[in-house]
Amino acid sequence: MASPKYKRILLKLSGEALMGDNAYGIDPSVIDRVAEDISEARDLGAEICLVVGGGNIFRGLSAAASGFDRASADYMGMLATVMNALAVQNGLEKQGIHTRVLSAIPMSSVCEPYIRRRAIRHMEKGRVVIFAAGTGNPFFTTDTAAALRAAEMSCDALLKGTQVDGVYTADPKKDPTAERYESLSFMDVLRQDLQVMDASAVSLCRENKIPILVFSIQSKGELARVLGGSGTCTIVGE
Ligand code: UDP
Repeated sequence: MASPKYKRILLKLSGEALMGDNAYGIDPSVIDRVAEDISEARDLGAEICLVVGGGNIFRGLSAAASGFDRASADYMGMLATVMNALAVQNGLEKQGIHTRVLSAIPMSSVCEPYIRRRAIRHMEKGRVVIFAAGTGNPFFTTDTAAALRAAEMSCDALLKGTQVDGVYTADPKKDPTAERYESLSFMDVLRQDLQVMDASAVSLCRENKIPILVFSIQSKGELARVLGGSGTCTIVGE
C-alpha cells in the first residue's frame, strides 16, 4: 500500500459537495461515500482534519443580497456548517472512525468548542477532527477557515475536494478546449484570480507554505489516490 505523500492533511469539503444531485441540503449516500473515502485515506496512515462548508444550506452573501443584515446572515451560514459537520461525523462513525466536531462558535451541548491544543491532541490520537462554524467570524468563508486551521494544525497540505479534478484554463463543463493545470504557483492563482479558493485563503497558505491540492471529491477513492501520489489533481505551491 502506498504511504501518504503528506502526513497530516486538512480536507476542505464545500457544502455543495454534500448535496449530490439535489438542489439543496444533504444527501446521506454522498456522506457515506465521502466517509468511505476518508476511511481509505486514513488507512494509508494520514492524519486527517476537515473543514466543511455550508453553501448547500445557507450562504451569507446571497442572503445579504436579498435583504438580510450581512453579519446575521453569515452567522446563519456558520450554523449551517455545524449541521454539515454533524452529518459528516455521523458518516465517519458508521465507518468505525473516532471523530470530534470542534466548533468555532461554542455550543457545548452539541460539540466541543474549538481549542487548538485539544484539536492537535485529538489528531495525535488518530481521531478525525471536523472543524465547524468556519472561523467563527462573519465576513469570512470556510475556505479561509480551512487555510487558517491548516496553518494552526501544522498540516502538510490542504486538499480541496471539488466537482472537477483540478484547476482548468476555463470551465471544463462549458469549454471543451479547457486544459487542466498540473501545477500552479500561489502568485499565478492570485494574479490571474483563478477560482481555487478565495484570495485570503490562498494568501494564508502561501505565507505558511501549505500546498493546496485541488481534486475531484466526486471520483470515488480519489482522495487516497491523490495522497498516495497516483491521483489527478492540480497542486498549488510556491
Ligand atoms: N461563514 C462565515 N464565516 C466563516 C465561515 C463561513 O460567516 O468563517 C458563513 C458565510 O455566510 C458563508 C457560509 O457561512 O456563506 C457558508 O460557508 P461557505 O459559503 O464558505 O461554504 P461552502 O461554499 O464551502 O459550502
